[in-house]
Amino acid sequence: MIRVIVNGAMGKMGRTVCDAVTAEEDLELVAMIDPGFEKGDSGAGGVPAFSSLSECLEQTQADVAVDFTVPDAVFENVIACLKAEIHCVVGTTGLGDEQLQKIEFQTSSSGVNCLIAPNFAIGAVLLMEVSRVIARHMPSCEIVELHHDQKLDAPSGTALRTADLIARERGAEAPAPAGPEGDAARGYNHHGIPIHSVRLPGLVAHQEVIFGGQGQTLTVRHDSISRESFMPGVVLAVRRVAELDGIAVGLEKIL
Ligand code: NAP
Repeated sequence: MIRVIVNGAMGKMGRTVCDAVTAEEDLELVAMIDPGFEKGDSGAGGVPAFSSLSECLEQTQADVAVDFTVPDAVFENVIACLKAEIHCVVGTTGLGDEQLQKIEFQTSSSGVNCLIAPNFAIGAVLLMEVSRVIARHMPSCEIVELHHDQKLDAPSGTALRTADLIARERGAEAPAPAGPEGDAARGYNHHGIPIHSVRLPGLVAHQEVIFGGQGQTLTVRHDSISRESFMPGVVLAVRRVAELDGIAVGLEKIL
């Protein structure tokens, strides 16, 4: 049995993760953490609920912590769990490069691992992989990412990672985006790739990468139409995180 705690358990993703963990025979949900819980709260089957992670860590033995919280909380949560020698699976977006370096350092001093994935949906991971291949042949491209209107960060972590992967593939000969430099109407420029962020009620998580060549365009699109789309990836990560060596970014590292 892998004992799992879920940070952000009252959130949209956290609730879905708690259900997904409970449904798996080899995983056991041992605690839930969210500021919205009150003392003495518990979930289905009496699973203890905590409003504070430190209180949970004092009282709970766990193997893996899953984090779907908010950009302001995720770094401290992950460091606290790693210090308590609990492997981490992180879906919360917004971690910066300096924070990733500190997390990497903490994994090596604690001897536990951390998997961070900006997108746990297999289709989105394939979109990134396919985009990398297309960029070798059609280097001019722009990204349009569309999310629900409650999303706190923009551009999305998936869009930034897609741009990272494409930029690495295009190398130094990357074409400059068209139009005047710094024009807000041309989107957020990440490594020379314009990213356009749409936030609307009714959306879940969607992304298009549009490649343009002479006399042709090629569009790759992925749609998460429900939060269940992320669950096979999260469950796989919970099962595999202990086999990693330190920090890994991207679900593809365990596929
Ligand atoms: P959400 O509905 O706002 O849920 C976040 C929850 O975390 C809220 O209940 C929030 O409580 C709670 N929280 C805040 N600080 C906390 C802390 N210190 N410890 C524990 N819980 C805390 O957001 P969501 O839609 O579930 O998304 C959560 C994150 O996952 C976002 O960063 C989003 O971009 C990301 N995401 C990633 C993927 C992926 O595949 N990697 C997929 C979807 C979403 P309060 O409301 O009281 O602040």
